[in-house]
Amino acid sequence: MWVKSVLVSCLICLFIRNADNAAMQAISVRNALYEVPGLGNRPLIIKMYPAVENFQSDLYEVYAEPYNYDLRAASAVAVIQGEGEGAAKGEIVFYQRHPPTGPILVKGNLTDLPPGKHGLHVHQSGDLRQGCDKLGSHFNPYLLQHGGPSDPLRHVGDLGNIEVGEDGSVEFDIVDALLSLSGGPRSIVGRAIVISTNPDDLGRGGTAESLVNGDSGKPLGCGVIAYIK
Ligand SMILES: [Zn+2]
Repeated sequence: MWVKSVLVSCLICLFIRNADNAAMQAISVRNALYEVPGLGNRPLIIKMYPAVENFQSDLYEVYAEPYNYDLRAASAVAVIQGEGEGAAKGEIVFYQRHPPTGPILVKGNLTDLPPGKHGLHVHQSGDLRQGCDKLGSHFNPYLLQHGGPSDPLRHVGDLGNIEVGEDGSVEFDIVDALLSLSGGPRSIVGRAIVISTNPDDLGRGGTAESLVNGDSGKPLGCGVIAYIK
């Protein structure tokens, strides 16, 4: 019964319009307790995404026991082995200590890339039957426009740029609060991560394409994000 009431109140939350929330607050996670008759107190986790004026109301994700999610730390890897326009090789590891709401660490080690800046994005699909070319658009479950990783308006899959050195290699660590490795609308497992030919202008290029993909060009390399056991 309590599960039902939590879900109902959450659905209502999704439709609350809060256009006055001009000051962009940080994404927050709240832990509370609720009482289950006969069982005592159980954790209730609420992850809150602030409203973006004229685009999106406040969003709340509410998790309560019995969970639909495995709350142990989760990890995944994307192996990049030269499927795209270039010969990029290496791996990108994803680690989420507290799924489904906690931040995710994205740790990459790549070689055989052209020096300079390249966009890094999670795409909708992980279907590599046609290499890196038909992976859909950037992963965008909230139907927003393209942006940089710290912008309130962004695709969930927008991870900005990586900077490749003169020797063609790059190591990077990115911490992101939107990606998740566990179920729900923000899960990236089974989707592809793509390194693009051009830099990502983070939606600031002033062109139509800039607000779709940051004018970041064709895929240089890609890999499917898959769980590590
Ligand atoms: Zn994007």
